[in-house]
Amino acid sequence: MPSFTLLGSGIIKRHYVQPYALGHEIVHSWIGNDVFNRAERGNWVEGLTTYLANYYWHELVGDRTQAQAQRRQMVQGYNLHVPPERDYPVAQFTQKLDEHDNAIGYHKAAMLFHLLRQELGEEIFWRAVKALVAEYHGRHAEWRDLERVFTEESRRDLRWFFAQWLEREGAPALSLLEAVARPVAGAPAETFQLEAMIVQSNEAFRFPLQLRIQMEGDRTQMLTVPVRSQREMISVTLPARPIAIDLDPEFMAFRRIARQSLSPGLNHYVTDRRRSVLMAFTDEPDHPSPFRDIVARIESQEQQKPASERTAITPLDKDGLFPQEGSVLVLGGEASRSEIRSIMAKQCGERAVLNDRGVTVMGTSYEGPGLALLVSCHRVDRPGSVVTVLYAASQQAVAKVARLLFFYGWNSFVLFKDGAVAARGEWPLESDRTEVRLDAINPIR
Ligand SMILES: [Zn+2]
Repeated sequence: MPSFTLLGSGIIKRHYVQPYALGHEIVHSWIGNDVFNRAERGNWVEGLTTYLANYYWHELVGDRTQAQAQRRQMVQGYNLHVPPERDYPVAQFTQKLDEHDNAIGYHKAAMLFHLLRQELGEEIFWRAVKALVAEYHGRHAEWRDLERVFTEESRRDLRWFFAQWLEREGAPALSLLEAVARPVAGAPAETFQLEAMIVQSNEAFRFPLQLRIQMEGDRTQMLTVPVRSQREMISVTLPARPIAIDLDPEFMAFRRIARQSLSPGLNHYVTDRRRSVLMAFTDEPDHPSPFRDIVARIESQEQQKPASERTAITPLDKDGLFPQEGSVLVLGGEASRSEIRSIMAKQCGERAVLNDRGVTVMGTSYEGPGLALLVSCHRVDRPGSVVTVLYAASQQAVAKVARLLFFYGWNSFVLFKDGAVAARGEWPLESDRTEVRLDAINPIR
């Protein structure tokens, strides 16, 4: 092992290390500290290390759910932290200064390796990774050296791949059009032909796209189609009537998704250009509310920012009115129960409901004084912005979660009981589902 990793005193005091931190540094023993990188000429080391340690680890131990969650986070992180006007190609990444660089240089670059693996298949991909380490042991390698090794191992021309994912910025913006099902004449009664058009609204990318077809009788079928051009027609015969198509349901591709189409979470709030904290809590005499800690932390984090970019911190308006623009973080407890209840009813609908006994999330009810709920919903009147509510049934319940709040930025809801997570998850991405129209009048002959 040619290097060692130091833990800063801050981490030791916190008794908490980021997940993957150790695995990531161990992988650097090969990628970065044995095969070196001249970061100023392009940094491939962080992308490959992130792919192997922070992502592939989950696949290796057979945890498909967590692997998918990681892919989702990488795609979502790119879409939240990299608005199109601030995008740049992976080839230009040298080092991370902020979350924006992280989303390109670590996460998009990691997904580049995921797409390369899908393109080449398991055997060739892993053989090439091993060849890279064997060949460049103790030496420097650059992106073009990786391209050469993968090209030689696969005996394929991969110039288009590296031009597309490395040298070009952005990602495919996809939608499905004209999904129509027709019964097939002369076939068994339940045979249908499904046709649909995959559309890329920007310059075409080339990649394999996964589709999940929902059929009658709760049946599903997965389908992977090679996408190459801006309009790609798909046609497939199915053993039941198709109802809907889900686009890339497992986040196997890397793509542009609008903020309002991503599952909402606290990270939407964090990455919004305008943010407001609405205080719906009260202090007891000599006992400032623990919600004050959260407000103080937000204020201290923003001291460096110009005043126009800082969070507006105000008491919740009596009529529950929101600021004109941007995302909103509402902090409150019992004293503001009815105001918070009506905010959630308007923004979250049935998904998360505050009621007389506690809260109901996705149909499951929770109650008790140790209860706290962090919930994010898209702001109904401002596409791309969210309303996040931190509601706590008691002062103690707030105090226990206040420190960890921003750790749960990817979840749409997190339910805490006495400070421990009792349930968490995301609202489904509804916009990625396309209904299939049935055309029974013109059967396929
Ligand atoms: Zn690293």
